[in-house]
Amino acid sequence: MKLAWFCIPAAGHTNPTLEVVRTLTENGHHVRYYSFQAFRTKLEAMGAEVITIDDYCAEMKLGPDAGARIAKDTAFATEVLADTTLAVDEALLDDLRAYQPDVIVSDSMAMWGKLLAIKLNVPYVCSTTTFAFNQHSAKVMKQSLMDLVKLVFGMPKINKQLKRLQDKGYAVNSILDVVQNDNDTNTIVYTSSYFQPCAETFSDKYSFVGPSVREASPLPRTSSRKRVYISMGTVNNDMPKLYRRCIDALGSDYELILSVGQSVDPSALGKLPEHVTVHQHVNQMAVLADCDAFLTHCGMNSVSEALYCGVPLVLYPQTAEQRGVANRTAALGAGVMLEKDSIDGIRTAVEKVLADSGFRTAAEKISASFKASGGAKLAAEAIIKAVK
Ligand code: UDP
Repeated sequence: MKLAWFCIPAAGHTNPTLEVVRTLTENGHHVRYYSFQAFRTKLEAMGAEVITIDDYCAEMKLGPDAGARIAKDTAFATEVLADTTLAVDEALLDDLRAYQPDVIVSDSMAMWGKLLAIKLNVPYVCSTTTFAFNQHSAKVMKQSLMDLVKLVFGMPKINKQLKRLQDKGYAVNSILDVVQNDNDTNTIVYTSSYFQPCAETFSDKYSFVGPSVREASPLPRTSSRKRVYISMGTVNNDMPKLYRRCIDALGSDYELILSVGQSVDPSALGKLPEHVTVHQHVNQMAVLADCDAFLTHCGMNSVSEALYCGVPLVLYPQTAEQRGVANRTAALGAGVMLEKDSIDGIRTAVEKVLADSGFRTAAEKISASFKASGGAKLAAEAIIKAVK
């Protein structure tokens, strides 16, 4: 079987697909992955043929702050998506026609993959690294469908952008055609049906395969203190004042590990207590493999990795999507919201999570559901089934 795979230029969306690609290529299928230079080596190691499309992706030309702006500025996001779709269309349509894929798999945010599948009339499988989304799960996630639309496509520019796509032969009548997955769309979701809000409202076209997590040996402890880990992810993490408040709140009582990202100079955070270490990047799975609590921005990957390791969470979401993940974690009892990010607020939330073993028990229950979900093998089977 020949597959064409599309994704956005983000590690969080590409990494969960790696094991699925490996499973497919090991079983004799050909995966042509339209990706980006940064992921070429990783994808080739999985046996994929990689075609890089950095030149067509509008986001790639915008510099390191683009990701943060896309998350906040909806009109800007619209333009980036339409620009990318049209550039990819122009560049790849002939190539794809010649390749004649049996199926197109595309990340839920890589609209161009779905639109090319419609245009070429090829079976389409959606790969979703966030929660699956319908009107039921949206309610639980306290996010309306329109909020998602606004998040992805800026309202004032929707019609203009739709017209640009229609002029190029894409039969999109409404923006909902593009962003919403109905119950007829084969969809791979990288979480368990237990963690997915309202899983029972999705059809059997949805495969909840669990997060793709690579286990690591635990980072050795440096003291007998409880270990607390803090990270705001890899995108919106330029928050030196928050990191300093965390150090002041927790530094004298815990073994504290901070991952602050590339924009913060660790030495600018001032003097560090003995059991505090600040890094620009850590092996997060090694830290989480032996950890008592994690203060997180609630990126889907960070939360999945922590829960996989049975680590309870202090939840500090920054975007609508992260709030959805945080709400679900809190609803299942595996974490507490950080209500106030003051020194007192941080200490209170961390102490609450550490004092009650119920949070860890709830995290371990989610972990068990992840491990029983079927993984890359189930995802590969779902893709193959979509073609038949
Ligand atoms: N990560 C890491 N080391 C760090 C910080 C983050 O390996 O020091 C990884 C983390 O394990 C996760 C990803 O980066 O897989 C972050 O993804 P997430 O969806 O949580 O957040 P984003 O960075 O996309 O906001």
